[in-house]
Amino acid sequence: MPIRAWFPTFIYCEPLQRGGARFSAELAGECRRLRDYDAAGRAWSAKNYPGGYTSYGSMAQLQKFSSTFATLERKLTRHVRAFARALELDLRGREICMTDCWANLMPPAAAHSLHLHPLSFISGTYYVATPSGCPGLKFEDPRLDRFMAAPPRRPGARAENQTHVTYPAETGQVILFESWLRHEVPPNRVDAERISISFNYNWA
Ligand code: FE
Repeated sequence: MPIRAWFPTFIYCEPLQRGGARFSAELAGECRRLRDYDAAGRAWSAKNYPGGYTSYGSMAQLQKFSSTFATLERKLTRHVRAFARALELDLRGREICMTDCWANLMPPAAAHSLHLHPLSFISGTYYVATPSGCPGLKFEDPRLDRFMAAPPRRPGARAENQTHVTYPAETGQVILFESWLRHEVPPNRVDAERISISFNYNWA
């Protein structure tokens, strides 16, 4: 075929570590305690995160407040470095650093609408509690707002030609993406709470 693909969008998905069930359970406990304790965050979430709790508006640097989250930062940084290497980014000798890290608790019916992560270059999520059937992470083709007169894609089109891709949420998995890539979490339709930790990295 005289056709080549250019300008790919890369998404990284790997287990955080081998045998991390205990670590995830510990993080899940901390996230639930945080919600109990963080009245400001609950108030912020009531306005901005309907049906759920996020510490994004109140405690968005959890890596600096808890040794468990500091440990998570250390583990995540290895993955982010590997991803940045694979993207062939020239960091000009600068270091990458986690700038934000926050918890997201999504009880039944909670959803998180389409957004991107400003002021960072790599973002991601770590899954700590993912009841069977809970929603995954849905990414949108970054060119979608430029398609204008383009016809839709065939339903059976190859995965790389689809306009959306959904990664299942699986406890213990890290998903990384470039921060400009828009994504959402569809409503949680199962009768159990989904817990994830999101984060941003910058280079400085
Ligand atoms: Fe996000």
